[in-house]
Amino acid sequence: MEPRSISRKGFLKSSSVLLAAGTGILQAPAAIGAQQSRSVKADRSYTLKNVRLETGFGYDEDGEVVYTKTELFNIEIHDGKIKAILPNKADANAIDAKGLLMLPAFRDMHIHLDKTFYGLPWKAKLAKNRTVKDMIAYEQQIIPELLKTSVPRTEKLIELMQSYGTNYARSHVNIDPTSGLNSLKNLQKALENKKESFQAELVAFPQHGINYTKSEDLMKEAAKMDIDFIGGLDPTSIDGAIEKHMDFIVQLALDNNKGIDIHLHESGDPGMKTIHYLIDKVIENPVLKGKTFISHSFALAQLDKVKIEETAEKLANAKVGIASTIPFGGTIMPIPVLYKHGVDVVAGNDCIIDWWSTFGTGSILQKANLAAQLYGYRTEFDLSRILKLATHNVLPLDDKGNRSWPKAGDQADVVLIDASCSAEAVSRISPVKSLIHRGKIVF
Ligand SMILES: [Zn+2]
Repeated sequence: MEPRSISRKGFLKSSSVLLAAGTGILQAPAAIGAQQSRSVKADRSYTLKNVRLETGFGYDEDGEVVYTKTELFNIEIHDGKIKAILPNKADANAIDAKGLLMLPAFRDMHIHLDKTFYGLPWKAKLAKNRTVKDMIAYEQQIIPELLKTSVPRTEKLIELMQSYGTNYARSHVNIDPTSGLNSLKNLQKALENKKESFQAELVAFPQHGINYTKSEDLMKEAAKMDIDFIGGLDPTSIDGAIEKHMDFIVQLALDNNKGIDIHLHESGDPGMKTIHYLIDKVIENPVLKGKTFISHSFALAQLDKVKIEETAEKLANAKVGIASTIPFGGTIMPIPVLYKHGVDVVAGNDCIIDWWSTFGTGSILQKANLAAQLYGYRTEFDLSRILKLATHNVLPLDDKGNRSWPKAGDQADVVLIDASCSAEAVSRISPVKSLIHRGKIVF
């Protein structure tokens, strides 16, 4: 885009050095980090010209949205914020966005930045690791070795996500007796190294159970270590008691003024009991409203039509959100019903090349695309709406087609993407050509 910033090609190339280097992984990142922070330390104040923004919907005679209107603008960026949105001046002394579409930067709201094989040789999931307890036993074997290189590999994982336009993540991080607090400490180191171009909120995640492997004291320590959410895991099948597990989490969140985001893979009765138990706890403690989430929540996928409507309404009233990887196959989550009732649905890649799954691409736009395919969002209007899964609900146009983003004063967290409108970006998973984080051009 401009001489002082690294090009996307250069960014991708430097990001792949680690992968190509194999065992040389510990040497590579320092050089890349320096290169990247040099680039992002470029201008704090600058103007972008020829920036395409959505300005409205075009309707046919039946009132259907049939296209999205766009215009070119000059965007002034100052001190990490969008200072002004002005009519385009093609001859301005400004960075040329060349007509690319500006969208809000993407947010991955469920990922494990601390846990990945990324940067190591390819390895598929093992058939013998069938249950969560099998996975816990496997993690107990492999985590000590992985921790030795987790800082540079997490940084590479962040760069992969950035290359797809993500500048923000909610990352779960293992708090367990095997890694102690080292998974958290290493993740915090990697995030510190990337703080100029990426931000994350952290969930202290008792991946090996709270009682199953005696993680209470570690969780209490972690809660004091600059994290944002208290996590949890399958209270019935791992810890054998919903109340004990959930009461601990809720109290820890309340005592430390944190949110809650639990992993709940459990289906059927145990899963639904935990969902209702948590809803009740949040209603008892309204301070938790809006900052309590259930990740996966597969039990919702098995409910009949009446029950899912009832549960969605309860979740919405308690302001309990659902974090989903948009699974398909046997488990189709009822996301359209959750949306209908106003539940905060967030999406994430969850695993990117790890021992749980190897299918996470790092692109959250791809998750919006997957949701569009799964739930039949095919029209210009529907495709434009489901972009919210990639941006955590920030959309350029409101439902009536009024421009609602960007506004002067908004944080300058944007992507420039090779698409004519949001609908095309979702449908085609269009390539992200530039990422700007807090006004800093990452590439
Ligand atoms: Zn997860």
